[in-house]
Amino acid sequence: MSFTLPRYFLRFHLSFTSRTASTRAKNNHGYLFLAPKANTTKFTTASIPGDKPQKLSAEELLVVVGGGAAGVYGAIRAKTVASNLNVLVIEKGKLLSKVKISGGGRCNVTNGHCADNLVLADHYPRGNKELRGSFFNVHGPTDTMSWFVDKGVDLKTEDDGRVFPVSNNSSSVIDCLLSEAKCRGVSLQTGKLVTSASASASGKFLLKIEKRTLKSVELVEADYLLIASGSSQQGHNLAVQLGHSIVDPVPSLFTFKIEDAQLVELSGVTFSKVIVKLKLENVQRNIPQLTQVGPMLVTHWGLSGPAILRLSAWGARYLYSSGYKGKLIVDFVPDLHVEDLKSMLSQQKNRFLKQKVLNSCPMELQLVKRFWKYILDREGLVGDTLWASVSNSSIVSIANLLKHCTFEVKGKGQFKDEFVTAGGVPLSEIHLNTMESRIQPNLYFAGEVLNVDGVTGGFNFQNAWSGGYIAGSTIGRLAAGNANLVGAL
Ligand SMILES: Cc1cc2nc3c(=O)[nH]c(=O)nc-3n(C[C@H](O)[C@H](O)[C@H](O)COP(=O)(O)OP(=O)(O)OC[C@H]3O[C@@H](n4cnc5c(N)ncnc54)[C@H](O)[C@@H]3O)c2cc1C
Repeated sequence: MSFTLPRYFLRFHLSFTSRTASTRAKNNHGYLFLAPKANTTKFTTASIPGDKPQKLSAEELLVVVGGGAAGVYGAIRAKTVASNLNVLVIEKGKLLSKVKISGGGRCNVTNGHCADNLVLADHYPRGNKELRGSFFNVHGPTDTMSWFVDKGVDLKTEDDGRVFPVSNNSSSVIDCLLSEAKCRGVSLQTGKLVTSASASASGKFLLKIEKRTLKSVELVEADYLLIASGSSQQGHNLAVQLGHSIVDPVPSLFTFKIEDAQLVELSGVTFSKVIVKLKLENVQRNIPQLTQVGPMLVTHWGLSGPAILRLSAWGARYLYSSGYKGKLIVDFVPDLHVEDLKSMLSQQKNRFLKQKVLNSCPMELQLVKRFWKYILDREGLVGDTLWASVSNSSIVSIANLLKHCTFEVKGKGQFKDEFVTAGGVPLSEIHLNTMESRIQPNLYFAGEVLNVDGVTGGFNFQNAWSGGYIAGSTIGRLAAGNANLVGAL
């Protein structure tokens, strides 16, 4: 990516690995000069006296920490609102790397089934109260979808509300964002880590940026700072250096590890609708969200699927403090009352007295044979048991097991189809209508760096798009206003 900012002087600070580089840095008093509109050579060295980095341009600079969804979207928006603003995104790794792997490589961009913002906000275990306000009104899922469609990314909404590019390929989203950033003139720099940030008395930000491969350090002075560093510890450190606190990060959206050898044999079996309830010793009161309805999947490791992931998100903090131990109660036939289930099983017995129970599960239950066997095994009914020898009390117990099947949760799974972090900068420390810090003027946050996380279904990206958009709009308006003021002088 080329760096096309006008004149900035960056202090070139630390140890070079090569002797030549080290000598050159010394001879030039440790400064790097960034040439305006540089083409092939991006940097030229210049000898500038003094200790402080200097900016020789009247134009303002926004530095965005993090080239993920929130950072790139925010950078594009800021540059769209204020074309005069210099926008520089610093990314320590690869740009939009999570977008690439998201949604199994398809990128679940947002959710198309939440027209009502109050309903939408309810999908965020952290943030549900705060996000009911202006946040999604300014830029919600419909706005995000229009944004991508306007820029040529065709989208489709699946039955469960998840929105994907029609291409089924996250590259469509990445290519769109990168080409938009490029055509707006956003500078994207990768392989660089922002290691420290401080605010000067004049209200500007002094950033220390380490170039990883060269082991060099640059200092940059910015007028606006947008921290969109996701869940990284380094991003949290920057927030703390600028006066913010951090809600302890803990994982959210994970599968449950269940140690049950017979369950492992069901690996791959899916249930389209179950009710799952989590019981944790450290939670005495009734928390409605610790009961979820939806699809569930058996894995070789335990239990997964949307209903389980939602439970993990709502229970993230409690599960963390219980050491990921608890009881999971599953209702495998949520649409049937237990009494109806008992009579259904009794009728089955009476009709098929001479048949093996294993071979004659009531059709209405729509249970796969492997799972029916699992239930019978748990009841101690061996493979060749005939219905005739099933007692009424066994029928009651089978019905109870299907309605309240208990599993011991022994830990957190490693499955990472979608995985986010709960915790980060508390929402009480920012203005959600601008994304500006309440502690430090001209400092902004967006995305997962905040103490916001959603359940699966595109809600986490929506937080990133909305936050990035609001921050970018606010910064852009300020920068455009300042440029007008300068012009008027
Ligand atoms: C496997 C997986 C699949 C997912 N699938 C989906 C999905 O389909 N739909 C959905 O809604 N959500 C999904 N998510 C969640 C979603 O990816 C995140 O919520 C979202 O990426 C957050 O965006 P962000 O820009 O805030 O942070 P990130 O995407 O994490 O971007 C932050 C960037 O900042 C960089 N960075 C951090 N600190 C520094 C620093 N000091 N200096 C320079 N750079 C720094 C990081 O390298 C990173 O690239 C998935 C997550 C995972 C892990």
